[in-house]
Amino acid sequence: MKVTEHIQQAAGKTLFSFEILPPVKGKSIESIVQLLDPLMEFKPSFINVTYHRSEQFFKKKPDGSFDRIDVRKRPGTVGICAALMNHYKVDAVPHLICGGFSKDETENALIDLNFLGIDNVLALRGDPPKNEKYFLPDPHGHRYAIDLVKQIEHMNRGVYLEDDIEGGEQTDFCIGVAGYPEKHYESPNPNMDLMYLKQKIEAGADYITTQMFFDNSKYHQFVKNCREAQIEVPIIPGLKPITSVKQLSGIPSLFHVDMPDELALEMMKCKTPAAAEKLGEEWLLHQTRDLIKSGAPVVHFYTLGKPHIIYNVMKQIL
Ligand code: FAD
Repeated sequence: MKVTEHIQQAAGKTLFSFEILPPVKGKSIESIVQLLDPLMEFKPSFINVTYHRSEQFFKKKPDGSFDRIDVRKRPGTVGICAALMNHYKVDAVPHLICGGFSKDETENALIDLNFLGIDNVLALRGDPPKNEKYFLPDPHGHRYAIDLVKQIEHMNRGVYLEDDIEGGEQTDFCIGVAGYPEKHYESPNPNMDLMYLKQKIEAGADYITTQMFFDNSKYHQFVKNCREAQIEVPIIPGLKPITSVKQLSGIPSLFHVDMPDELALEMMKCKTPAAAEKLGEEWLLHQTRDLIKSGAPVVHFYTLGKPHIIYNVMKQIL
């Protein structure tokens, strides 16, 4: 079932969803099952699975020269989605990115998803690989997420890349896109970011999932700005627990989001990892309760290796 159908059926009740990373190459799917098993008690409406592009490494050869090798550390997004749907009978939302994909490869990936009965996709641009400063599209790929949205929307109308495919199967993907309550880091200003977000919706996206935030007023303001800009689709807030003092600077530098004073000052006082986790859990609970109260359609948790915190929060909510 599509994300938007879940939201419609809930008729105003806040739903829950989780996001997981595929296991590191060489690890079994068992690690995902162990992470998700306890959380399934809360009946998530869907589970997102992130996509991780290849990174380049240089390997020294015996003659002293170097070979450049491309390694995808976390392959298996589509396989994990299919396995989750099969194992838990839950809807899966694979993330699909522009980076590292030609349009043809994207089309083939979408055909696979369609054959597997996966009817949700989160369409993203992706970040530059660690050793590159700027995002560079594949020479035959897409530069912005909007171009990926357009390709998916074309397939939903039976339009494939090759002109000579007539009467092609119309896929039926529900398309999600990313939104940034605190602005995307490359965007010159919030208004331009909003303008590009609106273009993604006009191109066929059905809903927005937000970047994480730690101050709910940023989300509320973002929703208000979107509505004023006539962006009417559901806006799903994404929440991540902060669990250590180190993350006070790590998260802002990685995700370009602010930590509110109150949280940062309290976190600085934590003397032990357990105290930091406890504070992070309380903050997440407080954020979640507020989002439910304000009628958020879904609360989406970035589980990211801390499922027990999400578990404890959910236990106190339901
Ligand atoms: P876009 O919408 O293309 O925007 C990128 C930048 O370009 C923005 O600054 C925007 O304002 C600007 N822009 C957009 N359109 C235009 C235009 N036509 N002309 C000029 N400028 C334009 N990354 C991964 O690699 N894998 C994942 O699984 C993943 N999951 C994510 C999930 C969520 C919910 C979020 C919020 C992010 C995720 N990311 C993931 C990170 C994401 O790929 C990066 O934030 C990336 O830098 C931007 O992606 P986007 O889809 O928002 O890009």
